[in-house]
Amino acid sequence: MNTEKVDVLVIGAGPSGAMAASMVNKNGLKVKIVEKTLFPRFVIGESLLTRCMDHFEEAGVLDVIKEQGYQVKNGAIFLMGEDRCEFDFSEQFTNGWEWTWQVPRDEFDKVIADKVQSMGVDIEYQTTVTDIQFNGSDSITTVTDKDGNEKKIEAKFIIDSSGYGRVIPRLLDLNTPSTLPTRDTLFTQFIDVNRPEGHDSNRIVIVAHRPDVWIWVIPFSNGNTSVGFVGNPDFFKEVNGTPEEKLRTLIASEPLIKDRFVGSEMRFEPISISGYSIAVKQLYGEGFVLTGNSTEFLDPIFSAGVTFATESGVLAGKLVSKKLKGETIDWDTEYVKPILEGVETFRTYIESWYDGTLHKIFFAEKIDQSIKNKICSVLAGYVWDKSNPFVARHKQSVSNLANFLTKKKEKSENK
Ligand SMILES: Cc1cc2nc3c(=O)[nH]c(=O)nc-3n(C[C@H](O)[C@H](O)[C@H](O)COP(=O)(O)OP(=O)(O)OC[C@H]3O[C@@H](n4cnc5c(N)ncnc54)[C@H](O)[C@@H]3O)c2cc1C
Repeated sequence: MNTEKVDVLVIGAGPSGAMAASMVNKNGLKVKIVEKTLFPRFVIGESLLTRCMDHFEEAGVLDVIKEQGYQVKNGAIFLMGEDRCEFDFSEQFTNGWEWTWQVPRDEFDKVIADKVQSMGVDIEYQTTVTDIQFNGSDSITTVTDKDGNEKKIEAKFIIDSSGYGRVIPRLLDLNTPSTLPTRDTLFTQFIDVNRPEGHDSNRIVIVAHRPDVWIWVIPFSNGNTSVGFVGNPDFFKEVNGTPEEKLRTLIASEPLIKDRFVGSEMRFEPISISGYSIAVKQLYGEGFVLTGNSTEFLDPIFSAGVTFATESGVLAGKLVSKKLKGETIDWDTEYVKPILEGVETFRTYIESWYDGTLHKIFFAEKIDQSIKNKICSVLAGYVWDKSNPFVARHKQSVSNLANFLTKKKEKSENK
């Protein structure tokens, strides 16, 4: 059996793996990505946050993405009945990007992977990691290609960016349940023939359908629109039929979107994912680091998945490069701490959405613009800006603001 030797082996060519590999490649090390599928492949996660533009720029893939003409996204709209709350990324506390994109991920991930390949990263598609044996920080990985042939790859370090594949968490028993309750989702993409001219295409629309059920509407520049429901498993049991019938019934039950998709064809039978939230016991070990969705995935409500994938991918790529060049890395302070701080900030906002605290803020009659700008920066993915009190003291700031607005509302109602 032939054995290949690399400095760094990256598992998975999604945004996290591509960012990580690009950073290692930029540092002059020999890096290889093994990817189970052949790109383009479908993956969910189509609405980006502006923070990931910084990562695309740093990894050298921003210009090629710009050339694709993807739907520009410059904010988010939250709707609940008659209430509406808009966030515009140009009105932010943090000095950062004011726009990003909404993308069909199959094409988008291929554009990025092709670019990093052209920069010198070796990508082997249709090649699945089946086993890894560590010997200190060196490792021997067994991979199987599409014809069932096995080979070994020797690496000085592994970056596991295998997303929902969770290769190292599975092999080393690192998976652990999320603190968030199980939620399910049902989604598709419509050929959006009824899209009104100039209609909110540059924002993700989030509809609060019920206190614990919400809908995303994400238009793409190719005329298709991604639509999905997220809710507790019992909610989806209330409707019967095929996945298409179920999704059409659910859409028909929400006045804010029911007319938009009547008569529109679905691009694929709606996909259901159950219990997508998952955590991990550790983010690194001797000879490996986990990035993106192979670490912890919370919830899609604020579209933060790709941003975490690229943030952790870029950071891991840099740290692994430094380590292989002889520097000492303190993984706890340089990697785990910042990644988990970001995760914890989003956890607060996600929990506050589902318990209704954020609804009190988003749908308040009026909220001070300077406060809104601070929340907007969180929703843009700038959750590492500690000068923002809605990052530094996220729990307290969100809860104090919701209490203040509730009291204000009660006062005005009692007048
Ligand atoms: C319902 C839902 C909606 C979402 N919406 C959004 C959104 O709007 N915006 C957003 O930013 N995020 C969203 N996300 C999250 C998003 O899907 C992920 O966070 C993102 O795709 C993670 O990127 P990644 O690079 O870590 O993993 P992935 O993009 O999943 O890439 C991992 C790659 O690893 C490969 N792989 C797996 N196993 C192996 C193996 N054994 N060997 C070799 N290769 C392997 C896979 O084939 C895959 O290509 C959503 C998630 C859900 C569940």
